[in-house]
Amino acid sequence: MYNPSSLKAEEFINHDEIMETLAYADINKNNLKLIDEIIEKAKQRKGLTHREASVLLACENTDKINKIYALAEQIKKDFYGNRIVLFAPLYLSNYCVNGCVYCPYHAKNKHIARKKMTQEEIKKEVIALQDMGHKRLALEAGEDPINNPIEYILESIKTIYSIKHKNGAIRRVNVNIAATTVENYRKLKEAGIGTYILFQETYHKESYEQLHPTGPKHNYAYHTEAMDRAMEGGIDDVGLGVLFGLEKYRYEFAGLLMHAEHLEAVHGVGPHTISVPRIKHADDIDPSAFDNGIDDDTFAKIVACIRISVPYTGMIISTRESQSCRERVLHLGISQISGGSKTSVGGYAEPEPEEENSSQFDVSDKRTLDEVIRWLMQIGYLPSFCTACYREGRTGDRFMALCKSKQIQNCCHPNAIMTLKEYLVDYASPETRKIGEELIKKEIGSIPKEKVQKIVTDNLTKIEQGSRDFRF
Ligand code: SF4
Ligand code: SF4
Repeated sequence: MYNPSSLKAEEFINHDEIMETLAYADINKNNLKLIDEIIEKAKQRKGLTHREASVLLACENTDKINKIYALAEQIKKDFYGNRIVLFAPLYLSNYCVNGCVYCPYHAKNKHIARKKMTQEEIKKEVIALQDMGHKRLALEAGEDPINNPIEYILESIKTIYSIKHKNGAIRRVNVNIAATTVENYRKLKEAGIGTYILFQETYHKESYEQLHPTGPKHNYAYHTEAMDRAMEGGIDDVGLGVLFGLEKYRYEFAGLLMHAEHLEAVHGVGPHTISVPRIKHADDIDPSAFDNGIDDDTFAKIVACIRISVPYTGMIISTRESQSCRERVLHLGISQISGGSKTSVGGYAEPEPEEENSSQFDVSDKRTLDEVIRWLMQIGYLPSFCTACYREGRTGDRFMALCKSKQIQNCCHPNAIMTLKEYLVDYASPETRKIGEELIKKEIGSIPKEKVQKIVTDNLTKIEQGSRDFRF
């Protein structure tokens, strides 16, 4: 029985409910009256149910699809303005006991280089990341109780936060590690993590079990219920995602929104972020072996439909995607992107020798962070290194309340300006700095409150003089 408030995976991600939803969407995909009604509802910016959203995703009428795109773009502007938050992944270890068939770190892959960074190596990587200008990391590690126990992750987080190199600092560490116990989530919370991210990979239980034939990740219920344990352990902000290409995308889309509805029903807070990775080439992995791959148009439609269905959930895209694909979906809903990423264990401080490839997937967007920042500004965005919310205690329901009322913009926008200024002063190339300084002048003028304008202007002068880390 479908029950969004249940704590059992198969009840809140209920297969029959998804199949009925897909059938309903098929019947109604050309029902223009219903589609208009759903779009009108989405315009109220309070979100859509998985059924309503699934009808929009199935819709084939070009006019209506264009309406969905226009609304996604408008909702994105309303909730997030023009700021785009930057982050970088940091892979600690690729030792893994699981058998995920789409990931080169699977335990049976004997020809990939296995690496686990020491605390000394992590220090070097973090200094290199700070020297690029990064302030926010997403920690990644395979699941391996012997090589990567929770103590290793906690120690690494401590090391990362402790490094203060020149004007650099990592101010927010998000963590993407395997599903674990309430007790371990509590420890992560105490270590001061930002968001706990765990991709479901696929919501389709049967496929899930085939794609994860061995290892603890094989347990669908334990994996799917992880976010509930994380929240029980005190983590307020959780990030969802599926790996598009493994299963039929409409199934995954409905499952993803049902998961969001479940978190809202049980914990009163939806997901903090949703990531939209697509399967990519990697060592030992050929994406064409998975026959549910999606093209760029479908991908854009998914992003737009998620945007209007959960307006207050941030959306993340990585360097798996090309520059042109990233540009397209930035307009439709993405609010956070990675830049200058390495998907190998280490690799920021010193490039990894080719024969020692330890990457999880091939990067499509290989530009430096400076190039990404310049490009974002050139296409009309305001790059942001803001990490203010969790440091100011704006997490979970407190964050959501501010986000839903759109008041968060009063923080995001000035914080973006001030953190961009830090980047320009400390790390940018002369060309990027020139474009950035012009942009900042323009953006200050668009801060609505005079008092805030004044504070930001004063802080910008202080940043020029050497002070750092101002935030609202
Ligand atoms: S996806 Fe994660 S759990 Fe699976 S093999 Fe890769 S690193 Fe291990
Ligand atoms: S103010 Fe909060 S929501 Fe806005 S960019 Fe900063 S951390 Fe993100």
